Amino acid sequence: MSLIVQKFGGSSVANAERVMNVANRIVETYKAGNSVVVVVSAQGDTTDDLIEKAMEINPKGSKREMDMLLSSGEQISVALLAMAIQKLGYNAVSLTGWQAGFKTNSNYGTAKIDVIQSERVKKELDSNNIVIIAGFQGINKYDDITTLGRGGSDTSAVAIAAALRADLCEIYTDVDGVYTADPRIVPNAKKLDDISYDEMLELASLGANVLHNRSVEMAKKYGVNMVVRSSLNKNEGTVVKEVERVEKLDVRGVARDNDVARIALVNIKDEPGVAFKIFSLLAKNHVNVDIILQSIGREGKKDISFTVTESNLETAIDLLNANKDIIGFEDIKATSEVSKVSIVGAGMVNNPGVAAKMFEALADANINIHMISTSEIKVSVLVNQKNAEKAVAVIHDKFHIA
Ligand code: ASP
Ligand code: MG
Repeated sequence: MSLIVQKFGGSSVANAERVMNVANRIVETYKAGNSVVVVVSAQGDTTDDLIEKAMEINPKGSKREMDMLLSSGEQISVALLAMAIQKLGYNAVSLTGWQAGFKTNSNYGTAKIDVIQSERVKKELDSNNIVIIAGFQGINKYDDITTLGRGGSDTSAVAIAAALRADLCEIYTDVDGVYTADPRIVPNAKKLDDISYDEMLELASLGANVLHNRSVEMAKKYGVNMVVRSSLNKNEGTVVKEVERVEKLDVRGVARDNDVARIALVNIKDEPGVAFKIFSLLAKNHVNVDIILQSIGREGKKDISFTVTESNLETAIDLLNANKDIIGFEDIKATSEVSKVSIVGAGMVNNPGVAAKMFEALADANINIHMISTSEIKVSVLVNQKNAEKAVAVIHDKFHIA
């Protein structure tokens, strides 16, 4: 007998028919002799709708109240799903994050799970219940509800799978698995049979919206066997695991991230300590910086440009302007009309030609590159947002990714 954690995303439980469909799949797994723990997201666009409701009333409401509000979406779906399973004649019990023992820190809106006290879940499993847990939420040391950040139910699922030492964590979604590129942009994108934790982590962080990146981080850390598959068919899905790959050129996927903005500080003094001033200021204020580019000095001046997420753009500009004299720049230029396009693959580190091939694809398509960054397993470029989809398509084509 195995212990299986199944996570269903919002689209998989969007309406009554889909809830019944999911209930059937859960019962099938249970009838095959497995213990089943299920983690569910809020139905369809519920979370977005709740955010909208809050904005109508007070866009600056406290984060604590936001979490109280947003956690309600998952509470609806767990209860409905438990009822659906009961309708099929099986025992199910729904639990909120706190009932399931998800203890988090107090960073409302982006809370991290400290520990899962899983006694209650184990007790319910011992009583032969199918356990349905509200994803995306936990409780802090003040007994207040917290949420884990958008898309956080994946992380809830992997966390409970790790805590219970589950044999498998299945992430059910509305696509067949992890693709070599977004199939809506690249129609001949292929589903990958497997992918390594590291590659998946890069793809997730670089804008492939399949998995919450913290869920992959956690799966890697605890060695959780994970598979991403569709709730709408029986196809095999993509296995995410530790894979040793040979040293051959192996680009696994192309990702695009539109949530990027570029800031350029023009005519800064070319002297020691300037970069330190800029980036420590941003770090102190929790503004994450991604790609950084510095020009060569000329006549004692230089430019430094870097990227941040769009949500951090205003904060970053305000901070920099408030410290204009201390940093010593003449002008600040910013745009959010840029996207990051990346290729990911473990073989990249041993293949210097990979980046060149990517740039060739972009050159042939007449797409200008603003910034470049590379790591052992990825190459990212910053391009104009209007060119991003085309960039993904031509790069995917160039590498014949399969
Ligand atoms: N319902 C939350 C969201 O929409 C969490 C999740 O779906 O994973 O972000
Ligand atoms: Mg998701």
